[in-house]
Parts: sequence; C-alpha cells; structure tokens
Amino acid sequence: MPVNVAINGYGTIGKRVADAVMKQPDMKLVGVAKTSPNYEAFIAHRKGIKIYVPQQSIKKFDEVGIPVAGTIEDLIKAADIIVDATPNGVGAQYKLIYQQLQKNAIFQGGEKAEIADASFSALCNYNEALGKKYIRVVSCNTTALLRTICAINKVSKVEKVRATIVRRAADQKEVKKGPINSLVPDPALVPSHHAKDVNSVIRNLDIVTMAVIAPTTLMHMHFINITLRDRVEKKDALSVLENTPRIVLVSSKYGAEATAELVEVARDLRRDRNDIPEVMVFSDSVYVKDNEVMFMYAVHQESIVVPENIDAIRASMRLMSAEDSIRITNESLGILK
Ligand code: NAD
Repeated sequence: MPVNVAINGYGTIGKRVADAVMKQPDMKLVGVAKTSPNYEAFIAHRKGIKIYVPQQSIKKFDEVGIPVAGTIEDLIKAADIIVDATPNGVGAQYKLIYQQLQKNAIFQGGEKAEIADASFSALCNYNEALGKKYIRVVSCNTTALLRTICAINKVSKVEKVRATIVRRAADQKEVKKGPINSLVPDPALVPSHHAKDVNSVIRNLDIVTMAVIAPTTLMHMHFINITLRDRVEKKDALSVLENTPRIVLVSSKYGAEATAELVEVARDLRRDRNDIPEVMVFSDSVYVKDNEVMFMYAVHQESIVVPENIDAIRASMRLMSAEDSIRITNESLGILK
C-alpha cells in the first residue's frame, strides 16, 4: 500500500515536492493545500492534483473556476503524512493540528529546529530519523553544507569547518525582494545561523559560517574549508566527492564555471523547472594542504531539499533503509548520481 502524502503550502518547495511524490513507487499524493487561487493553484488543477483550501477561501476558488476537493483539515485527515512547506513559522502553527489528528509531518528549514524530533540530512543521519513523527529537513544552505561535510568525513574525521556562503537574494518568482545592487552581510554577525543549523544534525562539530546576500536569483555559492584529523591527499578528497550521491564534480574543461552556466546545463538537459538538486562542486577548486580541504560549490536553493523531503517521508514512515531510499529517490528524480 503506498503512503498517502499531503503537501501543505504549495509554493517553491511544496510544488516541487508534490511532483517528486508523484514519481515515487511507494507514495501517493492525496492533494495539496492552497490559500489563494493563483497561477500555481490553476496549474496544479490542470495537472489533476486535488486542491484543498481554508474553509473561508472556498468561495474565492469557486469564483475563478478552480474546483476544491475540501478543506485543509480534510486533506490532513486523508493523509498518512504531511509535508509542510508553508512560509517560515507557519508550520509551527500547523503542528498543533497534525498532533491533534495524530499525523506524521515533515517540516522545512524555515522552522525552528525544536519543532521536530530530528533535523534531517539523508546522507548524514537518516537512521536517527527512522520512525520519528516530526522531522525537519534543514535549509537549502545547510543541506549542501551537510552533504559535503559528511562526504569528506569519509576520508578522515572532520574536526573543524569554516565556510562562507554567498546567498541568492531571492527565488526567481519573487518580485518584491532585494537587494538588486548591493552585497549585504546576512547578518553582519559571525557566526551566521547556518552553523547552528549544521549543529542541529552534527551536534558537536566545530563550525563557523559567514554569509552575504548577493543580487542574483539563480543559486547560492559556498566557499568551504574543512580541517581533518589526518593529513590527506587531494585525490582522496576528489574521489569521495566523485563517489558520493547528490554531489557532482564540475570540471572547467566543459566550460561551466558559473551559476548561470550551470542553470543553462539544466535547461539543456530539459530538467523540470531547470532544477539542480545535486551539489555542484567545482573540481578545479578542490585544494588540499596537509589536513585541510578547501573547495567551492554551487547550490540550487529551490530544488536541493526536494530529494531530502522524499527520504524524510520514508524515514518517518520506516519504509526502507537509507541506501535504498536515496537510490530510489535519485532514480525517480533523474538525479545524476
Ligand atoms: P513560498 O512562499 O514559495 O511557498 C509557501 C506557500 O505556502 C505559498 O504557496 C503560500 O501561499 C502558502 N501558504 C501561506 N500561508 C499558508 C497557510 N496558512 N496554509 C497553507 N499554505 C499557506 O515558500 P518556500 O520558499 O517554498 O518556503 C517554504 C519553506 O521551505 C520555508 O520554511 C523555507 O524556509 C523553506 N525553504 C525554502 C527554500 C527556497 O529557496 N525557497 C529552500 C529551502 C527551504
């Protein structure tokens, strides 16, 4: 029997997770919650997705001719598990309803870590999340940091991480966010919140992060410096990055050295929405000095957490092992490896 999954909050993350759920052999999308009858609701309807809305919004949807399957509470009741992709902080309000109706839920990185029984990164702590009723998939930047840190940890134990994050200012659909011509420390305070978020998964890691917002919508870029217990060879660092799922090495020999070019690759590959759920590590940037490994990578903020949401559903419902879940998710979503 497939697991019945509901998506509450059908925006940037929610609509991608909904599409991903529809591609899983062991999941069924029961419907999505929408609050306003906008273009996203209209397209969801065109795709045959059932739409559930707040009681007071039914009339608004009727007026524009988008059929409503029921209220958001009906949707939650019909599901075994809810992926909550509502805006930051709204998930905490919905948690009370999930608890009342005794439903499992996956929250996003915009919620505080305390909302969940475990913060989640498929490559780092899938087993810790097994059977947990409430799981929080960490933010896009934290998901990328954790993937790279847990990969490099296989070469030698990671003792210290220092990272600088250049954040995209807004997602492509966001018309009211900026800056459009400035670099803005995010915040002008060290460490940035990303370090604390990494510590919600790897508790005692010595990590300091700094972040700046840049006027771009395409991707984030990270500059990471990882100190290991042992002296390592560059080839070993490259090999582990090469062989870790959801991390792709990008060589300058193909001429894709900028986020705009990576997005163009996604377009040429006819990726859905030009998504790049893999961490894109620039292989020429990998530099090793004694026990320090440094490199640069790009992060597609809108899609990187999508495979992790699918794995978090399987972990919460105890459907299968980490290895099997990561493999099935990757194959179904066409992730490069
Ligand atoms: P979004 O604004 O694109 O989507 C949120 C959706 O929730 C919208 O469709 C909105 O109409 C809907 N919504 C608002 N109030 C609601 C309510 N009360 N009930 C039901 N639906 C409601 O936001 P997003 O970017 O998808 O972010 C969602 C979560 O994912 C946040 O926690 C965010 O921090 C996290 N996240 C975002 C990104 C990103 O780059 N966009 C990346 C990783 C994680």
